[in-house]
Formats: sequence, structure tokens, C-alpha cells
Amino acid sequence: MRCPYCSSENTQVKDSRPTEENAAIRRRRVCPDCGGRFTTFERVQLRELTVIKRAGRRVVFDRDKLSRSVEIALRKRPVEPDRIERMVSGIVRQLESMGESEIPSSAIGQLVMEALRGLDPVAYVRFASVYRDFREAADFHEVLGEIAHGPMTEGGDAEPASGVRLRMPAEPEH
Ligand SMILES: [Zn+2]
Repeated sequence: MRCPYCSSENTQVKDSRPTEENAAIRRRRVCPDCGGRFTTFERVQLRELTVIKRAGRRVVFDRDKLSRSVEIALRKRPVEPDRIERMVSGIVRQLESMGESEIPSSAIGQLVMEALRGLDPVAYVRFASVYRDFREAADFHEVLGEIAHGPMTEGGDAEPASGVRLRMPAEPEH
């Protein structure tokens, strides 16, 4: 594995251990040329997936990219990293078992929304606000309604928790 810092090909594995309930192997690596340390993960990939973006562009599915967008939605939320990893793995398995090698990005967004909805309502609103872009005020109320009726919220109090930044559309002038 090439060193991400100095591009040396001489990196060494210092430590290998199973993680994510044995679904992955985590390796700590060190570069003898620059002293850089980094971690790699080895995971089963059942099939190669291609994502069809909204504009029709095709890109190779990137688990890390999915992971990052989920982590951004869950930033500072009380959800353990292990649960996040399991959630991402679950989404990837669902995508792999769809039987299609090309998957529209909207289908991935839908799976992420469904998973976040059960995991953390704040993260769900954050992700939905970006994903759906809240072009209509009605979208916003719809999402809050989904949360109010979800398993995580009691009493239907749909006030978004602090720390949620929502891009609300400007009210039209009358
Ligand atoms: Zn190096």
C-alpha cells in the first residue's frame, strides 16, 4: 500500500485486527521513509457499483464518500462510531443486493434517509435538508411530520434540536 504522504511503496503493517463485528479488518500502517502513519480497512465487496448522478454522470461507488456524508449529518450527535459503521455497511449491502450494477444517487439518498430516520432524528433532518434541498416550505413541514411520527420522538414536538442549521426558503413577498 502506497504511503499517502510521500508516495513511498515501502509501507509496513504494524497491527491488524478485526473490526465492525468481523465484517472488516483494520490495519495500522507505518511508512519507514517519512514516518507517516495511516489506517486501511479491508472489506468484502460483493459487486462493483456505479452511481448515476442526477445529471446522468456515472461514477464508481465510493463507500468512504457515503461514510463522510453520513458522518457530517451525525456530527456531534450521541451515536457511537461503530453504529455509524454498521449503518453504512447495511446500506452498502442493500445496494449490492439490489441486483443492479448501476444505481441512481437518489436511491442511495433514500436508503440513507431511511436509516438515519431510525437512528437519529436530528441527523435525519440535516441530511434531508441537503438531500431534498427544501425547495418548498412544504418539504420542511413534511420532514418534521415524518420525525414527529417516527419512533425517536415522543409527543409530536417537532421543534428541531439546537445545532440544526436549516436552509429555509425565503417567504415570497405579498
Ligand atoms: Zn511516507
